[in-house]
Amino acid sequence: MRFSILGSGSRGNSVFIESGKTAILIDAGFSGKEIQARLRSIGRDLSDIRALCITHEHNDHICGAGVLSRRCGIPTYANPGTFSNGDKRFGKLKVRKEFDSGDILQIDDLQVRSFRISHDTADPVGFVISDGKASVGYCTDTGQVSHLMATRLAGCNGLILEFNHNLDMLKNGPYPLPLQQRVRSSQGHLCNEDAAEFLAQLVSDHLRFVVLAHLSETNNTPDLARNAALQSVADWGETALLVAGQDESMPLVQI
Ligand SMILES: [Zn+2]
Ligand SMILES: [Zn+2]
Repeated sequence: MRFSILGSGSRGNSVFIESGKTAILIDAGFSGKEIQARLRSIGRDLSDIRALCITHEHNDHICGAGVLSRRCGIPTYANPGTFSNGDKRFGKLKVRKEFDSGDILQIDDLQVRSFRISHDTADPVGFVISDGKASVGYCTDTGQVSHLMATRLAGCNGLILEFNHNLDMLKNGPYPLPLQQRVRSSQGHLCNEDAAEFLAQLVSDHLRFVVLAHLSETNNTPDLARNAALQSVADWGETALLVAGQDESMPLVQI
């Protein structure tokens, strides 16, 4: 199984995941043209994609979804709340596949299991994607962590986790108070400290890669996020730590 973060942050999110036969995208928060360019940069193409799985209806996760559906016929998977709240931004979709949060989707040889997270949208989810041999967990855009999230993400071989902001930078930065409160709320985004504590619970012998994702460009830096993660986990063993960027795709990671 391989994955690449095509881009991550408040200006757009999309993750490519493939096993032997099947390739999917989690979220499509860039234009169709940009997603195609980023796929090409890792030697892949939109025509390879069998499904687009949506976490929630914020623009930085769905703005390219309609185009991928209409131009390329890629089936769009989301829960009813996400489809209904994102209706205008999705536009017409060629193939619309509804799931209930908690369902396990079978997309050729990939299993995609959704689980509820905590964010200011209709019914936000994270995903664990597995090909039966390896698994990758994706969890960003959540204001708090839960027992359910820890249970689903435990034992994954790859983890893509939100490290959104540094609390001091947020408090002392340019965001007006209401926006700070929204980011910090239980339905906002995870700060480095909370994310690092959560990560420490999830580290296991099975974990090969951790990718820190959805970093704020205003209220965080890659070094601060990385240091928070490094300090919270006592023994990294063989686990590699990566930080996803906003402007270009990561090289494919094999797990
Ligand atoms: Zn987001
Ligand atoms: Zn969001």
